[in-house]
Amino acid sequence: MRAFAIERAAGTAEALRLGRIEAGAQDDLAAVPRFLAGGTNLLDLMKLDVMRASVLVDINDLEAEHGGIAIRDGMLHLGGLARMAAVADHPVVRRDFPILSEALWKAASPQLRNMATLAGNVLQRTRCNYFRGRQWAGCNKRDPGSGCAAKDGVNRRLAVLGTSEQCIANYPGDFAVALAGLGAEVDILGNDGGRRSLPFEALHRLPGDTPHIETELEPGELITGFRVPIGDWTRRSLYLKIRDRESYDFALASAAVALDLGPDGTVRSARIGLGGLAAKPWRSHEAEDALAGRSLDETSAQEAAEAAFASAVPHGDAAFKLDLGRRTLVRALLAAQAMEI
Ligand code: SF4
Repeated sequence: MRAFAIERAAGTAEALRLGRIEAGAQDDLAAVPRFLAGGTNLLDLMKLDVMRASVLVDINDLEAEHGGIAIRDGMLHLGGLARMAAVADHPVVRRDFPILSEALWKAASPQLRNMATLAGNVLQRTRCNYFRGRQWAGCNKRDPGSGCAAKDGVNRRLAVLGTSEQCIANYPGDFAVALAGLGAEVDILGNDGGRRSLPFEALHRLPGDTPHIETELEPGELITGFRVPIGDWTRRSLYLKIRDRESYDFALASAAVALDLGPDGTVRSARIGLGGLAAKPWRSHEAEDALAGRSLDETSAQEAAEAAFASAVPHGDAAFKLDLGRRTLVRALLAAQAMEI
């Protein structure tokens, strides 16, 4: 591990000053200031020399300002520095947003949930072996232009949606999939103190020709929170995660589903996120459109799942994920329909 300094920021203004990065210097291997909260992914990657930092700007003292959980203006507000465990266990989140509570509960071990923040969690990096292992030469995400060893290598866990010729890595998280499915917004504080918001779905980029640039964040920007719209669909929601082992593992396939059903069972609207299967937290508008106005049953759920994977491109050993992804979505939709709320 390379040497770095730590500075503890007492407030937001100091954090932004300490975290200032020159435009264009956001390359993983640039020794620049980086924000440190839970550190559960960043420190791993620094130990592997996949990311470097000159200074870690410890922002844990900002939790009082940016770590709240509240209902306001018809939205659930979640602070970027809220801990995963605090949100997963919050009584309002558990009752009214089971999709979020379950995604967080299933995301990590208790130790990690107690440490990790929401903002850090959504920014976690892929678990592609070649990205995390410096012994492998070819990884366009880690070393742009070096190739993609995964395409002809070990790729069983990688993506089938949103991939490119340059990178087939999957996004590994769970919570972000639920946020994307629910149509959340993300609030961002710029290095100059300016604030902006984005649809959460637009925060992560597809790999295209630049897989090393994963989000729309500018150098030195800080995620301060997330806003989740409240609607008739939020209570009838769930997160189904399929993995090799039932504890402390990443998703092979997951489905975040929220349904607004009419009195006769017709789907007034569906919100659908897919995880473990795509290059970024994936919202399936195709599946949502396929269900709108229809009765939800095995047939319509299957048709929605077909629509969700119509653009999928399987690579090597990940081909099984098409069928697994479709089955996961069908099961999640029918389970959400059967929920008693
Ligand atoms: Fe690197 Fe992406 Fe290829 Fe994995 S899939 S080796 S992260 S370029």
